[in-house]
Amino acid sequence: MSSVSDTAQVISQAERIVPALVALRFPMDPLPRCIVGNNFGGDSKLYGPGAHEGVDITATLGQRVFAVDDGVLSRQFLDAGSAGFGWELRATVGDVRYRYFHLSGFAEGLTTGGTVVAGQLIGYVGDTGNAGAGNYHLHFEVRPGNVPVDPVPLLAIPSSCRVLPKP
Ligand SMILES: [Zn+2]
Repeated sequence: MSSVSDTAQVISQAERIVPALVALRFPMDPLPRCIVGNNFGGDSKLYGPGAHEGVDITATLGQRVFAVDDGVLSRQFLDAGSAGFGWELRATVGDVRYRYFHLSGFAEGLTTGGTVVAGQLIGYVGDTGNAGAGNYHLHFEVRPGNVPVDPVPLLAIPSSCRVLPKP
């Protein structure tokens, strides 16, 4: 009976927590290759045991990766584990973090604690960490309150990208 107002309430709560998540900027150059894996959650043979906390976007080596929001590079991953090279970005507005894994390299001049603006180049797609050799893709996470949520419904996905169905 009150489903419309319930929905509105849920949306307004979500917007309070993560105001930047309305049509989130796409994290990667869609060309020359962009296949959105739609594989948030569940176990993954490829990416290790346990829940998959992001989405994998298949690309080519060196494809550009961008900040999706204004924020601070709160953590740099230096190829020490499954993440490979990567960034965690903390949004300036709203309690949300974004993570980017398996990069081949970082944009020049960026360090932990540095500020970036939405759309800024922060790195390049690669296959570091547990991506699998030659399996060039961006692992991308959205973490409101540091809890991972499925990025796919939030993203403004360019028309040149293919989106795989949920497995
Ligand atoms: Zn992944």
